[in-house]
Amino acid sequence: MRASSQATGSAADPDGLEDRLRRFATIWSRAIFPVTATSMTRPEFERHLLPLARELSTALHAGSFDPRSAQHTGAALVDAHCTDPDALSRTLGVIDSYLVLYCGSAQEYSAEELRARCARLQHSVAAGYAHALRERTLVEQEAIARSSMRARSDAAEALHATEARFRAIFEGAAIGIGIADLDGNVLEVNEALTRMFGGLEHHVRGHKVTDWSHPEDRPHVWELYRELVRGDRDHFRVEKPFYRNDGTVLWTNLTVSLLRDADGLPQYQLALMEDTTERRLLNLRLRYEATHDALTGLPNRTLFFERLEKAVTAGGGTRFGLCYLDLDGFKAINDSLGHAAGDRLLVEVADRLQSCATAPGEMVARLGGDEFVALTTGPGAQRDVHELAARILAVLATPIRIDGREFTVRGSIGIVEGPAGGERTAAEVLRSADITMYRAKSAGGNRFELADPEADARAITRHGLTTSLPAALERGEFFIEYQPLVHLGDGTVHGAEALVRWCHPQHGVLGPDRFIPLAEHTGLIVPLGRWVLQEAVRQARFWQQRHADGGPLRINVNLSPAQLHHPGLVADTVAVLERSGLEPGALCLEVTESALIGADEDLLKPLRQLSEMGVDIALDDFGTGYSNLANLRRLPVSVLKLDRSFTQGMQRSPADPVDLKIVEGIVSPAHSLELAVTVEGVETGAQAVQLRELGCDTAQGWYYARPGPPEKLHALSLADAV
Ligand code: C2E
Ligand code: MG
Ligand code: MG
Repeated sequence: MRASSQATGSAADPDGLEDRLRRFATIWSRAIFPVTATSMTRPEFERHLLPLARELSTALHAGSFDPRSAQHTGAALVDAHCTDPDALSRTLGVIDSYLVLYCGSAQEYSAEELRARCARLQHSVAAGYAHALRERTLVEQEAIARSSMRARSDAAEALHATEARFRAIFEGAAIGIGIADLDGNVLEVNEALTRMFGGLEHHVRGHKVTDWSHPEDRPHVWELYRELVRGDRDHFRVEKPFYRNDGTVLWTNLTVSLLRDADGLPQYQLALMEDTTERRLLNLRLRYEATHDALTGLPNRTLFFERLEKAVTAGGGTRFGLCYLDLDGFKAINDSLGHAAGDRLLVEVADRLQSCATAPGEMVARLGGDEFVALTTGPGAQRDVHELAARILAVLATPIRIDGREFTVRGSIGIVEGPAGGERTAAEVLRSADITMYRAKSAGGNRFELADPEADARAITRHGLTTSLPAALERGEFFIEYQPLVHLGDGTVHGAEALVRWCHPQHGVLGPDRFIPLAEHTGLIVPLGRWVLQEAVRQARFWQQRHADGGPLRINVNLSPAQLHHPGLVADTVAVLERSGLEPGALCLEVTESALIGADEDLLKPLRQLSEMGVDIALDDFGTGYSNLANLRRLPVSVLKLDRSFTQGMQRSPADPVDLKIVEGIVSPAHSLELAVTVEGVETGAQAVQLRELGCDTAQGWYYARPGPPEKLHALSLADAV
């Protein structure tokens, strides 16, 4: 569609934008012309919409995006008499379906960015529309009120003429008008008012004004009413709900005026009503969308923060308790099953969480990603919050079925509890809960921990670490430890895995689990990973040159998913190998199983290229990522590294028969696919023997050596050679 419209672009409009805008305006006018009250013809109306279309297109592309500019578009629709609620919903539909299609230029922004902008523009159009509609109705109300006043004062002179004029206004007005006596008996209603109440005139007429009380009436409404009929007040204006005859609720802006007789004595009451039901619903919907998570329907961070602030600052000796939940291992599921399945899992988790927090004063919200929070308030919050956390862990324990497979999702929870009205702000409370959640995660996950102010002060915050990462790389604070890989057959050292560490100036040595996820999140993983590769390859080449007699040592280097996606991966690796002089066959890149399962050909291509050059690719942490062996055939992989969890089962004596079976079941098919099998986490001699009997090729673990400086590896390798 774009191509053809571009082809028709004239010399003055080389990229055809004007042409596309005109088409957009045509579609738009076709959609809403039938529901407008405009006196324009169709072509005129279309021309009228063209500048509005241009306005939307400009807003969509603005360098600094400001959705508010689209409010004007909404207001302009009301000015053009498009006041039927259908006109708005059809307009939003047209923008949703065609704005990006006709006016989006994919050169400047990604499709996702354009979609996001388009959604926000729709909100703004709706907000502008609602605002303008309200203004307009107020103006209309004033005019009618003025006319009715004039009608009253002119009564003596030209009773007949004004009566006729008043009638005309009364019957033709778009807003509801009703007249009642001072006892509240409804005497006259116009058509618009009858329509608001559902269309049956006698239903409205048969009522007394005082029958129309509603539980959501403002408390002072009826007080104002009594003042008016007593003659103490000439008018009042309120927002008031009414029950229609069918039980549905009509919301109105209601203005009631007192009509006096020639002597100034109260005689009738005149009510002017504007139906605000639609607008109210629209506002409620906009507010709902701004405060709820689109995926799960749970309250979002904004709404949660409002509630937390209220709970934290409330007086009256109440308490609050907060659970901060982060799912354990969600990333692996997301990476291996894809985002659609990950989303379904989050929705199921959200439903289960909601079922945990149903008591008054309790709420659950999604902060984003796989992070959720639950809040409880009230005098018993101290005890309640522990029960809440236990309930949450319990509901997560039941496996979740997705696409016929079962997944067990666990969570780590940080709890903060305290009296309301204390010194901490809501932001501090949330931060403390976040830190505490991390403590629960570091302790192994699937548990809750209680906040401890001292631990908070010591805590290494994710934020702090994230911001100091880039400088750390420049300052050379990272270093590599090497852990030997041992032939199970003859016990010789066959290579080593490079494992990165961070020597942090304040916190000491930090393991990769602390900072690799942060580096992945910020993109720093690419330069950091490149540095590790360079350093490890240089070290391997050094070993080879120094100890030519010690046998060919190989080097294993871990790759993060983000590195896999980086377009420079192949070129960087080739450059590093060439510069050092290490042959490609001495390098093995480890990729986690979860990063590769479900990967498409585009993602596999760089790995395939590297593998064709002779670089080995190992599937790390195998057995944790829900893949099955049959899928491995299509991956450019030559080594499987069995996850530590399998080896752990063999530590017990007798060894866990299930783990034995699983390892057995992996080794022989792997061999028939010509994959070598390495086992991780070998801690005892008994395990080593068992794994050798099961046919595993290589092992790595504390039984042989912990990760250490490069000099240590050589000592071990020499000792073995002896
Ligand atoms: P991995 O690749 O599975 O590395 C093996 C982990 O198991 C290492 O943890 C190692 O210290 C530990 N380990 C080895 N033998 C034993 C044992 O007998 N018992 C026990 N309990 N543990 C053992 P480490 O060094 O904490 O590394 C954790 C993970 O961080 C690595 O898992 C790897 O996925 C990642 N990582 C490490 N270095 C890098 C790197 O340079 N780049 C990237 N992207 N990730 C890295
Ligand atoms: Mg590894
Ligand atoms: Mg591993």
